[in-house]
Amino acid sequence: MEQFLKALPKVELHAHLNGSLGIDSLRDLAERLNGSASDKFLELCFIRSEKDLDACFETFTFVHQLTSSPDGLRYATELAVRDFAHDNVQYVELRTTPKATANYSRREYLEIVIDAIIGARKKYPYIMVKLLPSINRAEPVDVAKETVSLALQLAQTHPDLILGIDLSGNPAKGRFSDFAPTLAKAREKGLKLVIHCAEINNPLEVKEMLEFGMSRCGHGSFLTMEEIKQLKERNVPVECCLTSNIKSGTVSSLKEHHLKRIMEAGAPKVICTDDSGVFDTTLTRELLLATETFGLTREDCIALTLEAVHHSFASDQERKKMVETVVNYAASLLK
Ligand SMILES: [Zn+2]
Repeated sequence: MEQFLKALPKVELHAHLNGSLGIDSLRDLAERLNGSASDKFLELCFIRSEKDLDACFETFTFVHQLTSSPDGLRYATELAVRDFAHDNVQYVELRTTPKATANYSRREYLEIVIDAIIGARKKYPYIMVKLLPSINRAEPVDVAKETVSLALQLAQTHPDLILGIDLSGNPAKGRFSDFAPTLAKAREKGLKLVIHCAEINNPLEVKEMLEFGMSRCGHGSFLTMEEIKQLKERNVPVECCLTSNIKSGTVSSLKEHHLKRIMEAGAPKVICTDDSGVFDTTLTRELLLATETFGLTREDCIALTLEAVHHSFASDQERKKMVETVVNYAASLLK
């Protein structure tokens, strides 16, 4: 099964750029920037055992230090693409919160990432990479407004690359209602919305988010059956990230994971990594966990991949190409 999943041309729809660097890539990056990697530093970049969500957000800040220069950010983007390409991911939508540091502005941050993605296309032609700028809900609304404005401007020059906006960050911070008008503007102007929703138990906010609407729901760990049914009616998939939810302590065990309830309800879902580097996983590994925990077959995994193609923000032509790649892979196994 593992070999089959590794070679499967996979589709990743929920991946944060800074959290997606594996240990080898972090070492490459640290060595390139600092001459030699400090093992202690690398230790801080990973969630080894189960921690709470706050500890995870603290961990991310260590990784962010490595990408606080233009060179670090550019190389980190290339390495993230490399890691997904090595796992045979044929399509990835990367999310990232544009940051302003002493070394770059938020606009320059996005321009560097876009440049790096375009450069990585030549090195890793097998994988299609898209970008969803993120709003960090722990930051002020004015920053969110700037992010949406930049995303809209850059989407004009890179319409095949910038496809949507993500709302993420520590779910215990910020209020959804404060960001809703900015997200609504992004949607009106044609960007898709992916929203981290029901990541913690916050029923009032989940209600607000579902009323507002979204193209895909990030995590959805605390969705009620009623809410799962609502998403099914609207054909909105839940982006299920098994290891991430376990390691950040929002789901108690794999067997208890809400992917089971979503599958039983026949509601749309996609399996994703969230932060494959920080949580020390890959999309192959996440699919393997799903097969081991819920008894999924190879056919189920192919169907899940085609479902991910369907819910991606790729163009019709790109989706057609992805379906062909998956169907050809499945056919090659029957020979
Ligand atoms: Zn996420």
